[in-house]
Amino acid sequence: STNSGFHEHHDNHHHHGGQDPVGPSAKELIGNALHQRVEKIDHEFCEPGDEDTFFVADLGEVYRQHLRWKLNLPRVKPFYAVKCNPDQKLLELLAALGTGFDCASKAEIEQVLRMGVDPSRIIYAQPCKTNSYVRYVASHGVRQMTFDNADELRKIARLFPDAELFLRILTDDSSSLCRLSLKFGASLDSTDGLLALAHELGLNVVGVSFHVGSGASDPGAFLKAVQDAHVVFQQAAAYGFHLKTLDVGGGFCSDDTFEEMAGVLRAALDDYFPAHSGINLIAEPGRYYASSAYTLACNIIARRTIADMPQPISESNGGAVMAINDRHTPSGDASYMLYVNDGLYGNFSSIMFDHQNPVAKALRVGGRTLYDTPAAEGLSSPTGGVEYSIWGPTCDGIDRITQSIRFSLVLDVGDWLYFEDMGAYTKCSATTFNGFSNEHDVIYVCSEPGAKALLGMH
Ligand code: PLP
Repeated sequence: STNSGFHEHHDNHHHHGGQDPVGPSAKELIGNALHQRVEKIDHEFCEPGDEDTFFVADLGEVYRQHLRWKLNLPRVKPFYAVKCNPDQKLLELLAALGTGFDCASKAEIEQVLRMGVDPSRIIYAQPCKTNSYVRYVASHGVRQMTFDNADELRKIARLFPDAELFLRILTDDSSSLCRLSLKFGASLDSTDGLLALAHELGLNVVGVSFHVGSGASDPGAFLKAVQDAHVVFQQAAAYGFHLKTLDVGGGFCSDDTFEEMAGVLRAALDDYFPAHSGINLIAEPGRYYASSAYTLACNIIARRTIADMPQPISESNGGAVMAINDRHTPSGDASYMLYVNDGLYGNFSSIMFDHQNPVAKALRVGGRTLYDTPAAEGLSSPTGGVEYSIWGPTCDGIDRITQSIRFSLVLDVGDWLYFEDMGAYTKCSATTFNGFSNEHDVIYVCSEPGAKALLGMH
């Protein structure tokens, strides 16, 4: 079954005297999971690894994101981009919700097929594929794949002539966090030639795809891409291809920009690919589904006051230490460097690769739990409270999570921090540099009864 090993961490903890029809809120569930874990750890006596960083994943959040997608883009079927976060439980929930999957490699395709998902629900959305992977998908019935160049067409003609091909076109990705068009996408002046070649090779072009860049912020990019795709549909018809699917890719954020983005896309699709055209619409959202569902907890393993910081050697100024102290502590308070047990080479790889700025909050300070209280929040005031910089555990100076954040509290070794929205492009690109594990526990909770039912959670 798809739910083996699934269990909820906190049965009935929140039902104080009788049935609570509403149930605990998402915040309460996540908070309780975080507390229960960290409260058990005695930092003076625990075993190596007991205080390791860990995630709490609220699968209910994934479920809510799915409903939100269906509300805003009812005609577009999501194919979740597995690369974003290949967590097995997340994939199981999405499989149960009926989404498709965008896979980039043999391992991702294997993982999805192993769940019993039909191969028709997979798109191998990698325009430049490994030969042996093409042979693998050919023998496993995964037919849909993208291409954007002539060499790839010749490769597919040799290895999998029956594949169902999507021509990936170039987009304006200049407003996105992670630009993709430098690497992928056929320009509109090359699409006609590619379609001619596909026709000559006897290949089966079934659709057009694009990607406006991961973490896109300009809805206009979607409008332009839909218009360009429409042009390519007409070019294809001239070669006798009856394209049946448009794939609008990923790029959607989970924050409140989604509604505007989806609104522009929905209107463009209604104009250029109206329901009566009979064209299927699919998308490849990754971060939209994964980001907000995961919270990460990190332990403070070391601290130094700023005066302990190694000073750059300065020939002219013997007072460098004083100068730095003055700059950082206008009120005369100490300021600190905090070292936590996860960093840029770990789950904060998103800072490097995904251009994120995760924000620390206080989870447990001096044995007091502060999750989701005003005291947990860092101060935005440039002078109030105590200033901290936050660093990862490796020896590399680049391994810094936060340059400056202020808290009203004094944080110390053994305290815990948490970071929200850590589900996208985090764990999947973590390394083991310096010997730190990249296999961290995930505690699953579920704040939506509908999702629990699908997964057989109680
Ligand atoms: N599809 C393709 C081909 C991608 O390259 C990516 C991300 O790089 C995605 C989908 C997912 O993008 P996002 O997480 O921005 O939705």
